[in-house]
Amino acid sequence: MKIGIFPGSFDPITKGHEDIIRRMIPLFDKIYVAIGNNGTKKYMFDLEKRMKWIEDTFSDSPSIEVSTYEGLTVDFCREINAKFIIRGLRNSNDFEYEKSIAQMNQMMYPDLETVLVYTRPEYASISSTIIRDIIKNFGDTTPFLPSGVQL
Ligand code: ADP
Repeated sequence: MKIGIFPGSFDPITKGHEDIIRRMIPLFDKIYVAIGNNGTKKYMFDLEKRMKWIEDTFSDSPSIEVSTYEGLTVDFCREINAKFIIRGLRNSNDFEYEKSIAQMNQMMYPDLETVLVYTRPEYASISSTIIRDIIKNFGDTTPFLPSGVQL
């Protein structure tokens, strides 16, 4: 069974995340959308909300499972037997950052491959950080969020 994992904070999930996940569905038997819970990081939305939004977004996709984990992504990959980490690439900053993480992860777990997927141009400027800023300033985020996300 080919198992992939799409790890992230999803604070909140955006149309960019949704698009990458949907495009990867045909490649894997199962994809875990995994919310990494970092104890020292401050999130705008609690874990339950972030999970529910992802579950609602993919309620029509039986191969998508939402989960949470703490600690290293590679340790969680071993636990669920995932051999492929999926990440989205928006720009050259993402590229440099993802390269370091992918190479370090592979040193820690040699059987693990990172699959990097280019973002569609229309979603390339969307980031959860900017969306949180729009929310704080009472702007309209509906064009950037999956239709299942009701803030
Ligand atoms: P992290 O805190 O790990 O960066 P995010 O939830 O911000 O978590 O992102 C998770 C993954 O989604 C990363 O691979 C990131 O590059 C990708 N991503 C974020 N925004 C977009 C977008 N607009 N289009 C495609 N991929 C994206």
